[in-house]
Amino acid sequence: MQIMKLLKLTPLLGFAALFLTVAPAHARLRVFSCEPEWAALAKEIGGEFIDVHSATSAHQDVHYIQARPSLISRLRRADLLICSGADLEIGWLPLLLRKASNARVQPGQPGHIDVSKVVPMLGIPSSVDRSAGDVHPYGNPHTQTDPHNIARVAEEISRRLIQLDSGHAADYRHRASDFAIRWKKAIAGWEKRSASLRGVKIITHHLAWVYMTHWLGLEVVEHLEEKPGIPPTAGHLTRLLNRLEDQDIEFIVRATYQSARPSKWLSERAGIPNLVIPHTVGATDGAKDLFSMFDDMLDRLLGARTP
Ligand SMILES: [Zn+2]
Repeated sequence: MQIMKLLKLTPLLGFAALFLTVAPAHARLRVFSCEPEWAALAKEIGGEFIDVHSATSAHQDVHYIQARPSLISRLRRADLLICSGADLEIGWLPLLLRKASNARVQPGQPGHIDVSKVVPMLGIPSSVDRSAGDVHPYGNPHTQTDPHNIARVAEEISRRLIQLDSGHAADYRHRASDFAIRWKKAIAGWEKRSASLRGVKIITHHLAWVYMTHWLGLEVVEHLEEKPGIPPTAGHLTRLLNRLEDQDIEFIVRATYQSARPSKWLSERAGIPNLVIPHTVGATDGAKDLFSMFDDMLDRLLGARTP
């Protein structure tokens, strides 16, 4: 009788055993990225060997995110965290890390990449005065708009993936060197294409573009936010408008997640085009991956120039 029962159960047990061997406690490395650009980059290097999730989308202001329970449970299961750092996520990441209590992704662990420690930082203030607005004492955290920084972070991601998942070391090495070759070629193309942008004067909404403007040689003359992180006020915009005459400013730049109203207000009165530039993957229809993000960035900047 017992044997009969066991025989009846065998196909089921067999099926269960098969399932267990096919899906061993999740073999793919889990990557938790704070921003879409690092998720896209991790995917370039990790390919099918990793699962990547971005905590934020291109249409959210990453300075202000809710530490939702779904993010906590994702971080609890993560093997590698990649975030911009330099206090960009100060309002939510420390809380997520505490609540997730996942030792693998704590600062200083192989499973924790702080991008601000990997790339040369711009905009480190000489003194930190919180009354000056949302100042970033460790430098400007919006590092992803210079493709040379993307290359640096790609190398770091590759190193960490190899460290955390040595079984696929050869795959990660291969993918990273393939990406590096394609990326280097793309940078050369972008730099050639954008040569005419050197010295062009622009206004930006938030000081989120210092790496792009540094890379392209654009000159940021003013910001719509009088103090970083504090929404543009009517008084500041009016003062800006009065200062704009004879300044030869070519365009006003903002990210998708920022309100269009201040840009449009100034644009209409000063007769300067206002542009949305992709600051990350998914920010515009054209920015489908990191390559097309920079293509689209240059299309928009070059397309807005008065011939
Ligand atoms: Zn910022």
